[in-house]
Order: sequence, then C-alpha cells, then structure tokens
Amino acid sequence: RSLEEVLKAGIRDIPDYPQAGVVFKDITPLLADHSGFAQVVEALAAAGRDDDGAPLVDKVVGIEARGFILAAPVALALGAGFVPVRKKGKLPGPTYEESYALEYGEATIEVHQDAFAPGDRVLVIDDVLATGGTVEACLKLVRRCGAEVLGTTVLLELSFLPGRERLAGESLSALVTV
Ligand code: 5GP
Repeated sequence: RSLEEVLKAGIRDIPDYPQAGVVFKDITPLLADHSGFAQVVEALAAAGRDDDGAPLVDKVVGIEARGFILAAPVALALGAGFVPVRKKGKLPGPTYEESYALEYGEATIEVHQDAFAPGDRVLVIDDVLATGGTVEACLKLVRRCGAEVLGTTVLLELSFLPGRERLAGESLSALVTV
C-alpha cells in the first residue's frame, strides 16, 4: 500500500468532537493497523535523516498525548532519545513552561529544564497541525533549553487553519495535508 492509501484508510472524521461544528481527525484506526503504523513511523523518521539515510537528530520531542505515540517509535528508529512535552502539572522535575491561546481560553505546556544537552539537535513531532499554537509553544520551550530545532513534522496538516503561516520561517513537513 502507498503511504497515501494507509493515511486515507487510517484517519477518520468524527463530526462535532470535541464540540459542535468541529470535525475531529481521529488517528486511532491508523494506530491499530500494524503495517500502516510502521510505514507512518518510517515516513516521519525520514524528516530526521540526511539524504543517505543517516540520522541527524539527538532527541525527538513528542507533544502530549498523541504526539507521544508517534514520537517514541520515531526516536527509536533514529537511534535518538525521546523527550516528552507535557500539559502543565504532569512533569515531576523543574520545568520551563509556555502558555498559548486556544480558541476558548489558554493552554500551558512544559518541558524538563534538563531534558536536552546543550546544542542537541531536535525533531519535534505531533499528530495534527491545526492553528500551530501548540507547535509554536513547543519550539520556544526546546530553544529555551539551549537545544537546536532541526524541524517539525506532523502526520496531518489542516490547511484551512493558519498553522503554516504562524510557523513561517520554521522547517515544517506533513505526511498529508487536507
Ligand atoms: P493547534 O495548537 O495547532 O491549534 O492544535 C494542535 C493540537 O491539537 C495537536 O496537539 C493535536 O493533537 C490537537 N488537535 C487539534 N485538532 C485535532 C484533530 O482534528 N485531530 C487530532 N487528532 N488532534 C487535533
């Protein structure tokens, strides 16, 4: 199967979730498909390799919660470490935090202050890029830790929202854009 076929079969629309009028992209069918999941992990990991296939990153960051599911196997595939960026209050050690606006209200995410060695090269992974607020805040956290962002890659980019414009100047790739 092509990557396109795998993604088309594995991501479904759930209308009116989490609120009326929103169509949520649900990736759980993809995760339940072993060969499809493996194909997607390899495709995401490609963003962390050079043209000869050699890994370019020291750490892969996953954003809670679906980002964890994708970023951890990508880290293993690249021979890199995994770093969780979590919602406020979940990490036990000293953290840096970053708040950003949601459609209604605000969210705060955190990373451990000692999650990276100085100059670590980092690939950031999440499942869906919507308004870009989550990834933007995550990149600030990584840089505040003294690490270098190599790029961001997502499974799915929603092109009817201004995520890409918000992240102008950043290296950003998506396996599929709708
Ligand atoms: P943003 O900050 O770009 O507006 O929203 C992206 C974050 O919200 C990501 O962490 C993503 O997991 C979640 N998200 C927003 N919309 C969807 C969606 O339709 N499907 C999924 N799976 N996640 C979404």
